Amino acid sequence: MTRPLDPTSIELASRLGISAKVGVVAAAEQISPTLRAITLRGVSELAGVPGNDVMLEVSHEGRPIRRRYSVRSANTELDEIILWIATGHEGPGATLAREVQIGDELDVVGPRGKIPLDPMADWHLFVGDASSLGAFYRMAESIEEPGRAIFIVETPHPDDAVTPNLPEGIGATGIFLDQDASLGDAKALLHGLAAFAFPPDEGHAYLFGEFKAMKTMRTALLDRGLANEQISVKAFWRTGSANADHGEPDKS
Ligand SMILES: Cc1cc2nc3c(=O)[nH]c(=O)nc-3n(C[C@H](O)[C@H](O)[C@H](O)COP(=O)(O)OP(=O)(O)OC[C@H]3O[C@@H](n4cnc5c(N)ncnc54)[C@H](O)[C@@H]3O)c2cc1C
Repeated sequence: MTRPLDPTSIELASRLGISAKVGVVAAAEQISPTLRAITLRGVSELAGVPGNDVMLEVSHEGRPIRRRYSVRSANTELDEIILWIATGHEGPGATLAREVQIGDELDVVGPRGKIPLDPMADWHLFVGDASSLGAFYRMAESIEEPGRAIFIVETPHPDDAVTPNLPEGIGATGIFLDQDASLGDAKALLHGLAAFAFPPDEGHAYLFGEFKAMKTMRTALLDRGLANEQISVKAFWRTGSANADHGEPDKS
């Protein structure tokens, strides 16, 4: 038996028309210098589709706030989901990921997210940073053969460039770059994009990461000839400001 949900989680889920459950931490593992994999048991029905995320209730200065994390993988038999959480900065979500212990119970609300894989695309371009790898790899694993996945990702540490095991029939290319010291100007990602030759057939780009960097990358992709509807953007965080209590970065 798990503890009861916080009433605010029940209210939030009902307002959003989704579900809330208490997840039990089944594993917490450092998979790279700044990425932690957290396994939550009892919440696989909240996993949604590749590209979706869940909201975790996190304590901040004595009050509950939410932080959103993409589902890296879901296992319905074990009733588990895995989240990959970036911990290379200071924040309530990062602290939780660093300190969580096996057996801890967390309120989980989900599934959330509006950007699934484009089933019509021949190739899929994933642009982001360490915080987007969980979403990107789950999405890439759902590409139908002979689709292609291209990753242009900046990471705080070279060893954060954790690579996925994609099915053999999926062509995968990865350009991993050192994250700029001046986060947000997307210099490294722009270099990565310059090295990428667009295949002639139809593609879709998914930009998940730092607010300003993703804006810059969207403009760069439009300049390279992608149409608006071929680009899906989601700001995950914003340099210099904490995400709001409901989990979204400031977009003003
Ligand atoms: C839909 C969605 C899905 C997401 N999925 C994931 C995911 O799977 N894994 C993941 O790690 N994050 C993910 N994020 C991002 C995560 O929710 C935010 O990074 C969140 O701000 C982290 O909360 P925090 O409490 O650690 O830091 P905050 O309190 O929000 O911020 C504190 C400080 O840290 C900085 N900061 C925040 N995040 C980062 C970062 N990644 N790198 C460098 N500096 C940072 C901020 O600029 C701020 O200065 C997702 C966000 C959204 C909206």
